[in-house]
Amino acid sequence: MTAAALIVAAGRGTRASTDGSPVKQYAALGGKPVLAHSIERLAANPLIDRIQCVIHPDDAALYQTAVEAASRKLLLPVNGGATRQASVLAGLRALSAAPPDHVLIHDAARPLLASDVVDRIISALSEVSAAIAGQPLADTLKRASPDGRVEATVSRNGLWRAQTPQGFSFPKILAAHEKAAAAGLADFTDDAAVAEWAGMEVRMVAGSPDNLKITTAEDLAMAEALLGRAGAGLETRNGTGFDVHRLVEGDGLWLCGLKIPHTHRLEGHSDADVALHAVTDALLGAIGAGDIGQHFPPTDARWKNAASHTFLAHAAALLAQRGGRIVNVDVTILAEAPKIAPHREAMCRRVAEILGIDTVRVSVKATTTEGLGFTGRREGIAAIASTNVELRARN
Ligand code: MG
Repeated sequence: MTAAALIVAAGRGTRASTDGSPVKQYAALGGKPVLAHSIERLAANPLIDRIQCVIHPDDAALYQTAVEAASRKLLLPVNGGATRQASVLAGLRALSAAPPDHVLIHDAARPLLASDVVDRIISALSEVSAAIAGQPLADTLKRASPDGRVEATVSRNGLWRAQTPQGFSFPKILAAHEKAAAAGLADFTDDAAVAEWAGMEVRMVAGSPDNLKITTAEDLAMAEALLGRAGAGLETRNGTGFDVHRLVEGDGLWLCGLKIPHTHRLEGHSDADVALHAVTDALLGAIGAGDIGQHFPPTDARWKNAASHTFLAHAAALLAQRGGRIVNVDVTILAEAPKIAPHREAMCRRVAEILGIDTVRVSVKATTTEGLGFTGRREGIAAIASTNVELRARN
């Protein structure tokens, strides 16, 4: 048995547009177009072997951008018609070049499709020739006059809200659509209605409450919230950093972006801020972007006496470019002297400021090493840092 997906993305609704893109199926959701989500969700199901999109001819460029990283299951798009029904027919005709056994017709504007819904539809198609996703109505229904006066309570018994995908025997739904088009009927609001009109038996299967259709900006906000709740492919990555600089006689040292009075200074090519170097390496580590020496080689005269906040800000910018965010940063300074406690809060604030994050996400602490080792002998200061960042899994 083969099953194709047909995604209808040719509509012209403009209500959900918040980012200047002309139509809802190309609006940004979780950092990528709504349509890209719909394609990915269907492509992820092993039972779907190809995906046919139907688009508006004006959207060819938007479509190309949306499917840049798309599945190899994706066929070349075809242009839709004046109505949704005409667009579906165009897609079905395109698929008929190599007809699948089943087709799941899906609205591009339902990007939160869950794989188990697809499974249930395909499973039902082994018994019936039409199976559609839906949700039984949970709200009490009222019929009201235009001024809001309730005229009746309508029984919700047996009532469902139809969603997509709607799955069909491919030859039967193609024949039904052809027949409806030949009869000049163009007002069916979903494909199940076409099937019902053609005399096919249609079965409801459980959809999902998250499988909402994005029509308004509020729907888009709701979808963002649902994506956020699910984690939506976000993952947390950890990075660690370690650094050491030698103490030499001087007039104070840089730690966590602050100049601390001291009898000594830290020696280095830059300002030798050992703590910021460790944090920078932790961030670079979390995103797999090498280490501080690669980005700012000590052999490069540009970084002579450089202020280390530049290095840290660069690492934060690399993370931001990948669409990531810092969850927390924790740094431990290993030193016998100077005392860190009096500067701790100011250091947290300064690191947070450089990273552009809330101070509560930054921890600075210090320890001596009980007189042991190079730090105990006051020959140098070491710093250990750890960070967690949140990134989309594909970045
Ligand atoms: Mg260093």
